[in-house]
Amino acid sequence: MQPTSSYIGRFAPSPSGPLHMGSLVTALGGFLQAKVHNGIWRLRIDDIDPPRIVPGAVESIQSSLIAHGLLWQDEVVMQSHNQQRYQKALHQLSESGLVYFCECTRQQIKAKGPYYAGTCKYKTNLTPPYSVRFNNPGGVCSIEDNRLGTVSTDPVATGEDFIVKRKDGLYAYHLASVADDIAMGITEIVRGEDLLLPTACQWSLFRALQKTPPQCMHLPLVTFADGRKFSKQNYAPALDNNCAAQNLTEALSYLNLQVPVEIVHSGVNEVLHWAIEKWHTKHFC
Ligand code: GLU
Repeated sequence: MQPTSSYIGRFAPSPSGPLHMGSLVTALGGFLQAKVHNGIWRLRIDDIDPPRIVPGAVESIQSSLIAHGLLWQDEVVMQSHNQQRYQKALHQLSESGLVYFCECTRQQIKAKGPYYAGTCKYKTNLTPPYSVRFNNPGGVCSIEDNRLGTVSTDPVATGEDFIVKRKDGLYAYHLASVADDIAMGITEIVRGEDLLLPTACQWSLFRALQKTPPQCMHLPLVTFADGRKFSKQNYAPALDNNCAAQNLTEALSYLNLQVPVEIVHSGVNEVLHWAIEKWHTKHFC
């Protein structure tokens, strides 16, 4: 079906390994949101941090999405191709007096407390290498989430002068993500609940770049029995593409949808079709 609305969503995995159940929940939730809005669902590969890139992960992520019927629209966006965009965003912040250089090391910052205290804000003689920090005009106290409703966020944490360009010259996640979400015309960000705080930090960046933040929806996390989050760092098992209909069924159970057994047996397309119908009538909040 052709998109008929202005909804644009995205799935933005980092290519640090294959997809696991946690990433499938996020991908599926985002896909369903785009489908019920008759919108577009895009794929962005967050490959700005070369040391974290695992060879073959981009191909593995794409083939897993395809095996699960989660077909994205438009060309795949690679963050590694967007340096000029990030540079422009940084320039815009700089023109507005919203960045400054920082020479602090991690140890120095840690010694002073959990958050960066603005130590270099008014310094003039700095020793390289420097990072570039966002001169944060004020923390975000709450965000409106399309599943969770109003979520309070810690204004001290979200008000930190976080790094936008690292000492090694790489653009930081918040800046790259916001610059891309703006350029891609994203109208709703669907991501895991572990990213609630980053979302609130990013809302300040959207505003600093004179853009209204998009809508957002944070989805439940998949955890191991001991409560640890499913992640590549925690060695969450990779999805088995041969069991795609079962994987989708498990992912849907995290989204509070129980797929009838006969639908699971009918295959991936039937499960997705069933899920889109159910998602239509689902009321969050
Ligand atoms: N690429 C990051 C991740 O996989 C961020 C995703 C996002 O911005 O939603 O966690």
